[in-house]
Amino acid sequence: MRRKRHRKWQTTLLVLSLIGLWIIFLLPSNLVRAPAPNEAVPAIPAGNQAIAAPPSPSPIVIESSEDPPEPDYTDAVWMAVGDIMMHMPLLPGAYDKTTDRYNFDPFFTEVKPLFAQGDWVIANLETPIAGEEFGYSGYPLFNAPVELAEALKAAGFNMITNANNHSLDKGEKGLLRTLANLKALDLPIVGTAASQEEADRLLLSEKNGIVMGLAAYTYGTNGIPIPEGKPYLVSIIYEEKIKEDIMRLRREGADFITVSLHFGTEYQTAPNEEQKRLARSLIAAGADIIAGSHPHVVQPYEVVETVNEHGLAKKGLIIYSMGNFISNQRGETKDYGVIFKVNIRKNKSDGSTQLTEIESIPTWVHRYKPDHAYRYRILPIDETIAASSDELLTQADYATLKKNAELLRNRLDSMK
Ligand SMILES: [Zn+2]
Repeated sequence: MRRKRHRKWQTTLLVLSLIGLWIIFLLPSNLVRAPAPNEAVPAIPAGNQAIAAPPSPSPIVIESSEDPPEPDYTDAVWMAVGDIMMHMPLLPGAYDKTTDRYNFDPFFTEVKPLFAQGDWVIANLETPIAGEEFGYSGYPLFNAPVELAEALKAAGFNMITNANNHSLDKGEKGLLRTLANLKALDLPIVGTAASQEEADRLLLSEKNGIVMGLAAYTYGTNGIPIPEGKPYLVSIIYEEKIKEDIMRLRREGADFITVSLHFGTEYQTAPNEEQKRLARSLIAAGADIIAGSHPHVVQPYEVVETVNEHGLAKKGLIIYSMGNFISNQRGETKDYGVIFKVNIRKNKSDGSTQLTEIESIPTWVHRYKPDHAYRYRILPIDETIAASSDELLTQADYATLKKNAELLRNRLDSMK
């Protein structure tokens, strides 16, 4: 019995000694030491980590699902200006004796870089360009040299609207010659046409995968009757006809639609009730942008809520009047205009478009007289004031510009 107990004690002692030895042997290598602040923690090789980490079925998929889905959009820039007028005082300073030609490029030098940002750049041509045989003339029956069309093209305009109260200033022949002169320069033109077939043809223009439909109409032709049996020569504003055209453009594949309207009251700085009613009605009927001209002064713009063909909310833009882009009219802000720049975004998944950015860039026609004749330049106002380095402008010019920049900004934004 005692021997037995003694042996048991011996066994217990041996086991305890072995455990003690084992602890002493392992202790130094098991000491966990926190790294000093500046001491680098040794990196665990990626391979070891992959082995150590719990298996992940497809880590790349998990990672990308946390990012927003890649947007499937395409964008294009729409630009437009108001009336292109050609009063007689604009001619002598642009005439070059050596070539016996006019050069109107200097009108557009300062705005040309802006137009380079546009995919569609639209102007309202408010004068026939019928050529020399018809005689050059100003108000009330205009006719401008063909060099004006060349200068428009060189400045970056790529679409011309031509339905306005001066379309028939040189009669049917003058209108047809104007069309021929613009077509020869590959400048698409809407609002006037040489035949019924041509008038019925829709103007669709694709940029960056976005198709714009463009149509243009005028309130009238200054009392000059449209030749009998030839209503196609000038598109007149008939509300129901415009709505049919909007539907036709949509059916033929237009992603968004611009309706150019030559309307309103001359020299009024706000739209009249009929302008508002008609423009809003056309937006409700499916137009996206109403590009207004005729009053010869800038009027406000407004953004209205409407719905697209899928019944989803979208914005419609109504520009009531863009004023004179180039003319000899002075005073009472008739020498001011505006360039509109609108970003159009198409959702390629569902085909819908939105107007995502709307910018209005006020302009001023600077007229000066270095010699016997006036020279004209269209200046983007804000940019000109910001640079304050134009050698042709006096301190008085800058003061006037600053005052009118504020006035125009307030007017433009008054219906926002
Ligand atoms: Zn007009």
